[in-house]
Amino acid sequence: MAFKKLEDLLNEGVESRHILVRSDFNVPLDEEGNITDSGRITASLPTIKALVDGGAKVILSAHLGRPKGQVNPKYSLAPVAEALSEALGQYVALASDVVGEDAHERANGLNDGDVMLIENVRFDPRETSKDEAERGVFADELAALAADNGAFVSDGFGVVHRAQASVYDVAKRLPAYAGKLVEKEITVLSTVAKDPAHPYVVVLGGAKVSDKLGVIEALADKADKVIIGGGMCYTLLAAQGYNVQKSLLQEDQIGACKDLLERFGDKIVLPVDLVAASDFDANAEHKVVALDGIPAGWQSLDIGPESVKAFGDVIATSKTVFWNGPMGVFEMEAFSKGTAGVAQAIIDATANNGSFTVVGGGDSAASVRTLGLNEDGFSHISTGGGASLEYLEGKELPGIAVLEA
Ligand code: AMP
Repeated sequence: MAFKKLEDLLNEGVESRHILVRSDFNVPLDEEGNITDSGRITASLPTIKALVDGGAKVILSAHLGRPKGQVNPKYSLAPVAEALSEALGQYVALASDVVGEDAHERANGLNDGDVMLIENVRFDPRETSKDEAERGVFADELAALAADNGAFVSDGFGVVHRAQASVYDVAKRLPAYAGKLVEKEITVLSTVAKDPAHPYVVVLGGAKVSDKLGVIEALADKADKVIIGGGMCYTLLAAQGYNVQKSLLQEDQIGACKDLLERFGDKIVLPVDLVAASDFDANAEHKVVALDGIPAGWQSLDIGPESVKAFGDVIATSKTVFWNGPMGVFEMEAFSKGTAGVAQAIIDATANNGSFTVVGGGDSAASVRTLGLNEDGFSHISTGGGASLEYLEGKELPGIAVLEA
């Protein structure tokens, strides 16, 4: 790895220095604003603790949700500050602004070993601006928080595929290092990307096929099998001629899916049965059906038991598995069995076949915890969905490339 790491920074010494850290605290919240899965907070602790132990003045930056460049209390990092304080066992103050007066005053007032959080960086429209100059001004203001002999630590793996001010531009303005989480993620994912043990099985799910066509194509090239379930499989099934009724369908993608099946048909593994439901509702009437058996006006919300078995058989032979995206609407109990079954098959392959198994990101990682599966049963659970997919596709991640420059 050609970038400087947290360890290098610690060796240089961080005592009394302002260290700006970009973390990934984009946690799911329920309607009352309670954190429903704190996996990303837990994953950020090793870097923060190491800096605290070194006597640094730690300034954390992060985003939450999509406030679209406007201050919106719904997306305040307040619940994160509270959860972090508890997890770290020390008070984490939250500035009332991002790079304003309060953030600066609090940064200047930090004692050695203190930790503070600035408000949601996406409250500022410049964070995600396409205009590099505009982002640059914001990055200057962020860097100013650690201007005096400070440094920047990039530890938000979930955002390193974005050329955003707090991830990318700021790294050009301060001495920049990869945090422990970013280092660990890249170490694991580079093994899968560059030299996966075969058979290499990719399992993909999630809502939209258009988001993932490029991914399927890139991974079908490298993997031995690509298993596809979840909302995205219905456009592929439609491309095979099935009437998917009211299931998720991207009609404008049917042509592209036909093309994909023609080129990679021998590698792509699709469901063989489905769980059809009368409505998109947790209590909807539902039944297991064949691919051509979705009742008129119904929709499929999960893969069926035969599919779980078929997918499981492929997974059982694997030596490497990368999984991204749920197999169905796992948030509803009646439609969670496909995701749970496939996850269990991956856990079993880890234990029984010595398979190296990686769960890629957001929804899939959350589903593992929501479904009460054993997190330790996988070789690695990545904190970044989009970032891990793009890395495995072979794309350059701006937030990593900038650390290597
Ligand atoms: P993504 O955000 O693209 O990873 O998609 C994840 C979402 O897709 C989850 O919230 C699932 O509930 C949803 N999903 C999975 N399968 C289906 C399906 N068959 N019909 C509708 N939504 C689905």
